[in-house]
Amino acid sequence: MWFNVVYLTIVALIAGFERLMPYEKQWLERDGETLNDIAHTLLSKGGVQIAAAIGASAPMAAATVLQPSLSSPLSIWPHAWPLALQVALGLTIAELGLYVAHRAAHEILSLWRFHALHHSVERLWVVNTGRFHIVDSLFKIALSQIPLYLMGAPLPVFLWIGAVTAFIGLLTHCNIDVTTGPLDWVFSTPRLHRWHHSKVLAEGNTNYGENLVLWDQIFGTYFNPARRPPADIGISGRVAEGFIGQLVQPFSAKGFRQILGRRKDRPVTIVSGKEQHSHSEVGR
Ligand SMILES: [Zn+2]
Ligand SMILES: [Zn+2]
Repeated sequence: MWFNVVYLTIVALIAGFERLMPYEKQWLERDGETLNDIAHTLLSKGGVQIAAAIGASAPMAAATVLQPSLSSPLSIWPHAWPLALQVALGLTIAELGLYVAHRAAHEILSLWRFHALHHSVERLWVVNTGRFHIVDSLFKIALSQIPLYLMGAPLPVFLWIGAVTAFIGLLTHCNIDVTTGPLDWVFSTPRLHRWHHSKVLAEGNTNYGENLVLWDQIFGTYFNPARRPPADIGISGRVAEGFIGQLVQPFSAKGFRQILGRRKDRPVTIVSGKEQHSHSEVGR
């Protein structure tokens, strides 16, 4: 309960600052997606909590049924370390799973069909932080948390990772005019995430990190040029209207085509006299 109280208070504070000192004024305009954003957030968070409950109880159930002598040989977690260090280690390991899941969601078309919902927004603000298709969310959770379970990480580490991920997530989408300076080298900041939402493939297929950008730097997908990130964001495909429509769209062949934007009547976006190559047009 306290987590939710703090979380909602921070959401309200960020929303207030977005009005007072917006980074992009045009992102303050309504896009008609607010209720869908909230519904996807609630479903994904509910899905996360159910997955976490199953994940937390399954090893306990297994441990109860099996004899202790059968405990996993992979239980190599450094339980003796101070909690802060364990959380830092857990974040780094979880982040590798998040990175792989996020990058796969951009580079493999059958996964992009679920992740496109997140990129279909044309404004960034605190409320569409959690706009993820439930399948997209579950995929990320699986890849980021299973390694920690296998290593035998304790519950407090999972709780702290969940809290840190929730708060950094809120900040990455915030439309507040702040500079993050050297933080851009370590954390996934609003500036880095704005590049990630670019329509231009070479700019958008970067900065996959959810909390930390360590793996982007190691695998060469870190992107932070000196110029201003684009205000014109989104995808060239079309995402369905309405929460249920958006949930079921990726599961039909027609919906998949709409998401990819490969219909014959798809308009081509012209920017400054040049065709704008967007996510779904270039090999997504
Ligand atoms: Zn993405
Ligand atoms: Zn985003």
